[in-house]
Amino acid sequence: MAVLEKIVIANRGEIALRILRACQSMGIKTVALHSTVDRNLKHVAMADESVCIGPAPAAESYLNIPAIIAATEVTDAVAIHPGYGFLAENADFAERVEQSGFIFIGPRPETIRLMGDKVSAIKAMRDAGVPCVPGSDGPLPESAPECIQIAREVGYPVIIKASAGGGGRGMRVVHTEAHLSNAIQLARQEAEVNFGDATVYLEKFLENPRHIEFQVLSDQHGNAIHLGERDCSTQRRHQKVLEEAPAPGITAEQRAEMGEVCVEACKRIAYQGAGTFEFLYDGGRFYFIEMNTRIQVEHPVTEGITGIDLVREQILIAAGDPLTHRQEDIQIRGHAIECRINAEDPETFMPCPGLIEGFHAPGGPGIRIESHIYDGYRVPPNYDSMIGKIIAYGETREIAIARLRVALDEMVLDGIKTNVPLHKRLVRDRGILKGGFNIHYLEKRLAERQA
Ligand code: ADP
Repeated sequence: MAVLEKIVIANRGEIALRILRACQSMGIKTVALHSTVDRNLKHVAMADESVCIGPAPAAESYLNIPAIIAATEVTDAVAIHPGYGFLAENADFAERVEQSGFIFIGPRPETIRLMGDKVSAIKAMRDAGVPCVPGSDGPLPESAPECIQIAREVGYPVIIKASAGGGGRGMRVVHTEAHLSNAIQLARQEAEVNFGDATVYLEKFLENPRHIEFQVLSDQHGNAIHLGERDCSTQRRHQKVLEEAPAPGITAEQRAEMGEVCVEACKRIAYQGAGTFEFLYDGGRFYFIEMNTRIQVEHPVTEGITGIDLVREQILIAAGDPLTHRQEDIQIRGHAIECRINAEDPETFMPCPGLIEGFHAPGGPGIRIESHIYDGYRVPPNYDSMIGKIIAYGETREIAIARLRVALDEMVLDGIKTNVPLHKRLVRDRGILKGGFNIHYLEKRLAERQA
């Protein structure tokens, strides 16, 4: 096992703590980078060293590339783990890290760049034999008649998407030809303003798909494996709320077949690290929509059903080790489900930062808590509202959900509003209990409740 002596954690909150724990269990020294408002984070206290890299606004701290590189230099660290969000999928950052002589724990900069642009990602995946959504096969041309022709061939409804888009933004659904040209124009303007790139493309709009994604690991020696799929169809405004693995109703044959497609694609683009192929699943078929070139929030459900520590694997791959597992070693066992706990109003979904006046974590068989919060911790208003995750494992889906239900009831989290009441309803919801619902299910249920 190659070793990285000291790793910089360029993130905050639960994922920073998760990375710290992986490093500690591997005997790797850690450096926690934090903003002024994050001095009191748990992982900052636990790390071997810590460096304040700037004030609360992320642009001046967690996105401050020179400060991160400088902190890595002064602490004599050898590698940087970016976590998720912030700079995790920023190819320029990965490049700067490498140019400065450090290891970026993630794919090569050119891979991040290739997959970060949706048009080039889809092209690469199509070439690698991955099934994609029928669409424009590249940027939409300037000419309106040509666009109309493309949309006719694809068939309405269609969705116009920004090539540089992300976070569920920069998308427009068009139901009839009369609205097409106007929608393309608006989408271009929005893409230019929001992402600095007016390139848009067109896809068939799948009306009732499920969101199913595959986890992969790929090393620097041409080996790749998949760790099965996750179902992330419980979404609100394209944001995931509950995630589970395996996906209800997906057969072992489908898993093996799609997993193999993803593995082949990894080999084809010489992918390095952990990654996720996101698909829409409709009418029994998978359609690639994008690849995430980082560790994801929902990675623990895959860890639950495979027993593999994905952050440890990321670090080993970055150190140059060959994969520790072969495909035939990977056994999918039982079921895992994760709920994201957000500091937000459970009815209006408005962020609700503030002081945590009381916190008791649930426990018991199959319960895993990933959170940085504690009694007396103040949730700052500057960052994402997610304050933790509960992951429940069971031999069956029913047992996993039952354990999650008990855990949610057992947990005490006082002082701020959270979405725990929403989760308590979801783990009792008939449709959720049944499983296999599409990406509109949660919003439909929320609308019914409003009515
Ligand atoms: P982002 O990078 O912004 O998350 P994605 O391409 O992953 O964008 O799409 C986000 C979500 O938008 C998907 O999970 C799905 O809910 C919806 N979506 C995207 N493309 C389509 C499509 N072709 N048909 C139906 N829904 C889509």
